[in-house]
Amino acid sequence: MSSAKAAAKDIARLRQEIRHHEYCYYVLDEPEISDAKFDRLMNQLKALEAEHPRLVTPDSPSQRVGGAPREGFLTVRHSRAMLSLDNAYSYDELRDFDRRVREGIGRDRVDYVCEHKFDGLSISLQYEDGVLVRGVTRGDGTTGEDVTPNVKTIRSIPLSVARDILKKHRLPGDFEVRGEIIMTRAAFEGLNRQQEQQGLKRYVNPRNTAAGAVRVLDPAITASRRLDFYAYLLLADGRPPLKRHADSLAALQQMQFRICAEFAASRSIEEVEKYCDRWEEKREKLPYEIDGIVVKVDEAAVQQELGHTAKAPRWAIAYKYPARQETTLVNDIIVQVGRTGALTPVAVLEPVQVGGVTVSRSTLHNMDEVERLGVQIGDTVLIERAGEVIPHVVKVVKEGKDRRPFAILTKCPECGSRIHKAEDEVAYRCVNAACPAKRKESLLHFAGRHAMNIDGLGEKIVDQLVDSGMVKDVADLYHLKLEPLAALERMAEKSAQNLLDEIEASKKLSLSRLIYALGIRFVGERTGQLLAEHFGSLDALKDATEEQLIEVPEVGPKVAASIVEFFSEAANKKLVKRLVEAGLNVKEERKAPKDTRLAGKTFVFTGELSNYSREQAGGLVTSHGGKVTSSVSKKTDYVVVGVEPGSKYDKAKSLGIAILDEAAFQKLLSK
Ligand code: AMP
Ligand code: ZN
Repeated sequence: MSSAKAAAKDIARLRQEIRHHEYCYYVLDEPEISDAKFDRLMNQLKALEAEHPRLVTPDSPSQRVGGAPREGFLTVRHSRAMLSLDNAYSYDELRDFDRRVREGIGRDRVDYVCEHKFDGLSISLQYEDGVLVRGVTRGDGTTGEDVTPNVKTIRSIPLSVARDILKKHRLPGDFEVRGEIIMTRAAFEGLNRQQEQQGLKRYVNPRNTAAGAVRVLDPAITASRRLDFYAYLLLADGRPPLKRHADSLAALQQMQFRICAEFAASRSIEEVEKYCDRWEEKREKLPYEIDGIVVKVDEAAVQQELGHTAKAPRWAIAYKYPARQETTLVNDIIVQVGRTGALTPVAVLEPVQVGGVTVSRSTLHNMDEVERLGVQIGDTVLIERAGEVIPHVVKVVKEGKDRRPFAILTKCPECGSRIHKAEDEVAYRCVNAACPAKRKESLLHFAGRHAMNIDGLGEKIVDQLVDSGMVKDVADLYHLKLEPLAALERMAEKSAQNLLDEIEASKKLSLSRLIYALGIRFVGERTGQLLAEHFGSLDALKDATEEQLIEVPEVGPKVAASIVEFFSEAANKKLVKRLVEAGLNVKEERKAPKDTRLAGKTFVFTGELSNYSREQAGGLVTSHGGKVTSSVSKKTDYVVVGVEPGSKYDKAKSLGIAILDEAAFQKLLSK
């Protein structure tokens, strides 16, 4: 074991390195190292910190995720009210604003700063001594909810700001950063793709999804979303510490926050209008959705002089872009098979211009949505492009004279296989794993890093393999030959050989990976592992009944039904057989029972422990087979009490539950 001093040095070095790479990846979008390498650094840090729990600090990158679910939010008062913004819906209204500002301070000319109006959840981040200590939602403007553990999971939020940067801008260690938590279009689409894959409902828009993910009691849920934070206000002691807002934005950027990088100083309201014009055209190309432009008076002294109304500052305004709507005729409703096998009804529209783009199709998402809209072929509908590139049908504005309802299919339109809708799902799906519509997606999933780890099998190659007919399903991968492979675009003999080597190597991977790689619905990595451990062979899993499957920990009726459905499909049976014949590893050692010293025991923690963080202590309990809950009841076996325990301690006493101090807890673990 390393000495504590050496460990402290290693820990400091690792943290700095990890912070740098988080910044490159999550703020600059320019990673310098691979994900795998990043994970390695993080694991090194976590291992060292586990060895030296006293060295864990709240701003360590290891502390982003963790933290047990909480029972409720604390309400916190804002240092200075978090106001809303007044809106301007036309350039006339923008000019009125400008006139009010100039009259208010008796000047002819005022400098403004324009920024994108992010559409998300506003949040206040409070730093003390340069370290993030609190994250609070806007709430009613005067008080908000303390969501600190949740915001810490957002990687573009710095957990601490370097002292030299604060010094450079003459900023105190205690300051506040306000900004917006948002979800980028890519993150939102990714989440919805995942939802669809699991047969769950699509989220409606990035804004509500981001807001919902922050306002949850379990930070693990926040962490599972790819959220971003954009800073738009810097305060110290409730006031802007720098002379100009533009300086604040520049400082925030150097403090390693994301800001609206395209912010612009404007010397007149005409320049502001130009800025609004420019971004109205380009806003679709931004990685995030904006619903307008925020215009702020640049000089802090002028802001101060103008003050605010009860609702909003007088020194800022939000110019809102008009929604783009148009009406058109539904010529037909067709069904497309998505890359995940979901059957998606699509409205074929009489082509119409919406905000400069010709729209001739619009997804109706699923049958529930068709029903909700009550749309039929021949109807006239209102369509809208609200920020997102893909337009959607808002409502039926006029029913067609010869309207006819759209009937859902009974077979997959691509391959003729059965289609299926699970009880609590919205989408019908083709059950054939080798359905041509799903081929590319299943190949990419199969090759994924956490599945069969065939790194060289990227999208470009998969497209060619499928389009040329060389590969129809994942089993075909194991029969690829060097020559035709090397003849593909972007391939040469060497890269083709590398790919073949990787494919060959994948045969030896664990059964749990293979089960996951098959892409059975609801079977994720962890379920794959549990199934492999439980059944020990693909053969046994393939023949398992729903009853047998439900015996596996964490496998419920829905998952069990999906597995049985998968293996009962003839095309899938054939596929599995061919994989076995190709020589893949289809057996797994059954795991020796793990450490079960605390099996069946339920723990509750209260107060601070000196040697462990909550997560570490909780982790120790679960790794020994025990369970951690957040509140004390008659079912609780032990309450572990640290420094300054809360009401749980009293409750434990009144219920007569065994109370352990930290030393007793450690002893119990080492028994
Ligand atoms: P609204 O909710 O429409 O009244 O708009 C006010 C909200 O816009 C503020 O509370 C902020 O959360 C948000 N907002 C988004 N982008 C910015 C920005 N660049 N500057 C200030 N506020 C912003
Ligand atoms: Zn199909």
